[in-house]
Order: sequence, then C-alpha cells, then structure tokens
Amino acid sequence: MAVHKPGTEVPNGLTTSELRQLPSVDRVWRALEARDAVATYPRAMVIREIRDVLDAARDGRAGLAPVPADPATDPAMDSPSSRDALLETVAARVEERLRAKGKGGPRRVINATGVALHTNLGRAVLSTPAREAVAAVAAGYSDLELDLTTGERGSRLDHVEGLIREVTGAEAALVVNNNAAAVLLALDTLAEGREVIVSRGQLVEIGGAFRVPAVMAKSGARLVEVGTTNKTYRRDYEEAITPETALLLRVHTSNYRVVGFVAEVSLEELVELGRRRGVPVMEDLGSGALIDFAAHGLPPEPTVQRSVKSGADVITFSGDKLLGGPQAGIAVGRREAIARMRANQLMRALRIGKLTLAALVATLRSYLEPGRAEREVPALTALLADPRALAAKARRLASRLRSRAGGLGRFTAEAGSSPAGGGSLPGVELPTWLVALRPAEGGLTPSEIEAGLRRADLPVLVRVSQGRVLVDVRTLASDELLPIVEAFAGLAAPPAHGAGEGR
Ligand SMILES: *Cc1c(COP(=O)(O)O)cnc(C)c1O
Repeated sequence: MAVHKPGTEVPNGLTTSELRQLPSVDRVWRALEARDAVATYPRAMVIREIRDVLDAARDGRAGLAPVPADPATDPAMDSPSSRDALLETVAARVEERLRAKGKGGPRRVINATGVALHTNLGRAVLSTPAREAVAAVAAGYSDLELDLTTGERGSRLDHVEGLIREVTGAEAALVVNNNAAAVLLALDTLAEGREVIVSRGQLVEIGGAFRVPAVMAKSGARLVEVGTTNKTYRRDYEEAITPETALLLRVHTSNYRVVGFVAEVSLEELVELGRRRGVPVMEDLGSGALIDFAAHGLPPEPTVQRSVKSGADVITFSGDKLLGGPQAGIAVGRREAIARMRANQLMRALRIGKLTLAALVATLRSYLEPGRAEREVPALTALLADPRALAAKARRLASRLRSRAGGLGRFTAEAGSSPAGGGSLPGVELPTWLVALRPAEGGLTPSEIEAGLRRADLPVLVRVSQGRVLVDVRTLASDELLPIVEAFAGLAAPPAHGAGEGR
C-alpha cells in the first residue's frame, strides 16, 4: 500500500508535527460548543474527557497514535487548515467518548468475529430501510393502533400480518417479543394443562438457558417425551397419543445437529398423523429462513414457506436470526390456531413495540421481490458474501494494518472459515478471509491485544486462535475498516502500555 499522506487519510492518527499543534482545552471546548455537543453533559465531565483525549494524543495512547512522518516532506502540516483538521479530530474523539459514556449501553461495537448472527452482539444488523423506518416512527406519533381510513381503533398487528402472509404463504400470522414468547404463547393457548408430544432428540437448549422443557412447564403443558436422542419414529408419536394429547411438537435443532445413526419424523409426516388423529401440530423452527440457502451453495436450512406448505397448525420463528430483522417472535399457521393465540390474555404481556414493528415491516418488505433481501439485509449479505470480495477486503485491511500497526507483529491476509452462529446453520463453517496477526516476540500477547481492542473507544471484537489474533472481514461494513486500523494502531503506539488505557 502507498504510504498515506499525513493529514489527509488519517483522521485519528497524529503525526509528530501534528502533536506539537495540539489545541488547548479551551479551544476544544469551543469547538464542541459549535458542534452542539456539550449542552447535555456536565461541564466537569466534558473537561475531563478533553484532558484525557489530549493526554492520550500526547503520549500516543487510545487510538490517537502518532504517525511517523517527516514534516519536511509535508510543509502543509503547519497551515491553519491542518490545525483546524486536528482540532476537529480531537473534538470528534471527545464527542464520541461523551456519547459512549453519557448514554450508557448498549454501545455500538465492531463485530470482527465473522459470526454473522452473534446473540451477544445483538444478532442481526438492521437493513437501511429498517433503520429509516425505526427513525421515522421514533421521531413522532404514529398510526400504531389506529385505522387512518376509518378513524377506528385498529390492532398493531394489522400493519404486519398481511405482509407475513404474503411472504410465507400462511393463512394467518402474529408477532410477539421473541421466539421464546411465541413458543410460550402457542403452548399456553393450545396445550395448557394437557400433553405435548416431543421427540427426545429435539429437547433443545438455546443459549441463555432457554430450554424447551422448561418453557413447556411454564406454559402449563405436560411434556411427553418419545423416541431416543438419535432416533424417533412415527410410531413413537402414534403410540403416545391419548385423549389428553393437545399437540404434536417438532423443534428444529437449530444450534446443533444430530449426525450418524439418526432418524427423525418429517413435519409432513407429523401433519399427516395429526390430521388422522385430530391432534394439532406445531413446529418451533427457530431461525426462520425465508430464502433457500442451498440455492446459494450453503447447506440446506428449512424455510418457513416449506413448513407452511406442510399444513402445520402453528410455526414459530425468530425475527432476528436468518430473517435478519429486529428481535421478534413470529407465529404463522392456520387461521383458527393463530386466532386463538391472538385472543390469549398473555398476548398483551408479550406484544411488540412500535420500533420493532417498524423495523420488522421494513425488513419483510425486502423479501417481496426475489433477490432483494440478499442485497439489502445485512445478515444475508454477510452470510452470502462472495469469497473474492472478502479476499480483497482482507488484503486492503492487512496492508493498512501493516503500515499503521506493524509494531504489534506480522499481519497476513489468508483464507479461513467463520461459524454462522446465533442458533442458525449449526455446524456450518463458511469459507471466509481473515487478517491474522501473529504478535511480535516480547510484545503484547494475543489475549492482551484482544482485550485492548475490546476496550477501544469503538470496541472491536475479534477471535483468538492458536496464538494469533483473527479479524474476520465477513461481518465488517466497509466504513468499519478505518476504526479497526485505529484500534490496532492505538495498541501499537509506544509506549506499549496503551492497552485499555486512556478511557
Ligand atoms: C433461537 C431459538 C429459540 C429462541 O428464539 P428467541 O427469538 O431468541 O427467543 C427458540 N427455539 C429455537 C429452536 C431456536 O433456535
């Protein structure tokens, strides 16, 4: 990569000549005032942050790293415009820190783990239309529960039910706070005080200790386990049906896979059995894919449309897994079952808010036209990313890191793999590209670097494996490369005690 021109491409890295021109606390304060950035924070807090950022810049900590540059080759460094640029950089950094501290969490972070649906990192990133829809609804009143044509009171679900039906082919739909809530609502409505038959191979625990058996107990349904961990046959369900049976439940093993000597009963077979014996059938699908991943060269993941076609009475899935929308639980299925769920008093406790609704509607709209969701929904763009594009991104990032943070060790761009995560595509490793850092002898260790990046002003989450720090570019937006370079550069800057300081 070409050596960058100081003062042009490097908003937060300071050259040695820039360091001599650092603004005074007072000038930064006035710049922040001009940006309208101080009014909401206590004065003492603003001053403290300005001092911290200036101190950090002076001794090369906290991402304001001195950039080795020869002032003689760049006489523009002493111009008033470069001084203004520096002032702006410092003010922007203070503002960023005030925002991070003043507002508390959840904070924006950079996900460089390559795990597209990372539950601890908030799962799906919203699409641009979804973000705009949230902002619009947040900024004013809305017709959340009002029919604008008649002036009558409406249901918040009217905004989304038709759309879900159109996208999935279901007769009816409802939305609650998350899929766990949808499962609870379905069991409470359809099976309270009665028996639900489930295969032992599907007694799933999802992250965060959500266990299918525990949720069933809460709903007042009685669990009847059939089959064995690896094999369950149709006759196992059939023999367990009694007059007390309220539901046949199938749970998609969305975060693990039983392989080898296995047998499962398909949803189609269960529906056929349920019809014959007069027992409703429910599927907890978990991830809720609306596109065919196999058509994109990934392992097959059951789609909602296919489950709907099977004729199951209720199918539940998450809004923020493979669908790529906000946290929500969606239940689709037959008119009668969904209507009963909607009438359940629990619905009020589990209902979604207007921001979620706006984001969900906007996300679902991307699925109305073939191919559009793959372009617009970030979870899908990350999962379906073209390895050639990832390779180019990794090489670009590696070369910037070499020039700005080479002191940390050796950066290389190389092929690797990323897990899908978030209870989706279990066991699937997607071919990806990584920037791997093998730390220099005697310098920071991989875990120190990982921790330092995690504590950066804009935290960066990476993987550590076999003595190396791995940045997986799959989950990086193009505007996230620069902050990553800054975070590494902040750790590379002498003195090397920078990790986690200057905050
Ligand atoms: C993820 C998952 C859930 C929980 O969904 P949330 O939307 O996180 O509440 C329930 N069941 C299955 C099978 C899942 O994969």
